[in-house]
Amino acid sequence: MKPVIGLTSQSEEIKGTKLNKLKYTYIDAIEAAGAIPIVLPNLKNIEDLDQILKRLDGLFFTGGEDISPLLYDEEAIKFTTEISYERDRMEMSLFKAAYKKGLPILGICRGLQMINISLGGTLYQDIPSQVEDSHGHFSTYDIKGGYHRIDIFEDTFLFDIFKEKKLAVNSQHHQSIKDLGVDLKINSRSSDGIIEGIESKLNNHFLLGVQFHPEAMVLRDERFLKVFSYFVNRCSK
Ligand code: MN
Repeated sequence: MKPVIGLTSQSEEIKGTKLNKLKYTYIDAIEAAGAIPIVLPNLKNIEDLDQILKRLDGLFFTGGEDISPLLYDEEAIKFTTEISYERDRMEMSLFKAAYKKGLPILGICRGLQMINISLGGTLYQDIPSQVEDSHGHFSTYDIKGGYHRIDIFEDTFLFDIFKEKKLAVNSQHHQSIKDLGVDLKINSRSSDGIIEGIESKLNNHFLLGVQFHPEAMVLRDERFLKVFSYFVNRCSK
């Protein structure tokens, strides 16, 4: 049986109509890796999450808008503008329940940041204005190819996936991890010191987060599908 994986999504009001949206590249990547993707809306009834989690083999926190800085006890700076109370509330509750159950978890971009905050970490709200001498981390025109390189540390899931110490990745984020959450370790950094990936320190728990977008890179480079097949494989156990 193929594993069933829940994907988080964004709720957004456009011209007076509320929509649920998720880039199809996330859905396609999970399907291509051999699992069944199920898109989860931002529910109001948080008490129903346990029932949903019973039916899932893994949870995928997708990319998107900024997370409210109130969740890590900071006031928003002027560069933090796109926040969604509904999505923050849904994802944080979902993460906590799934983490407690030991469900395999993947986080991409905002997803990595949500994992970190849910485990007590904090973020740089805006890399260009808060991190001195930082490099470019936000390319917009073409995110199918590499934009900057990362150093991948050995003895990590990410190294096990790529078997490379240096990897060119895309980058479309203006925020990044500042203080690391509890029981997390860093699996990669860019040369300006920005944290580009995290995973669980606990051996019995599969939790992987990356700041780059393998779901977009896979369109040009098949190696990036391995991030998803590795995760799907963990969800099959
Ligand atoms: Mn980056």
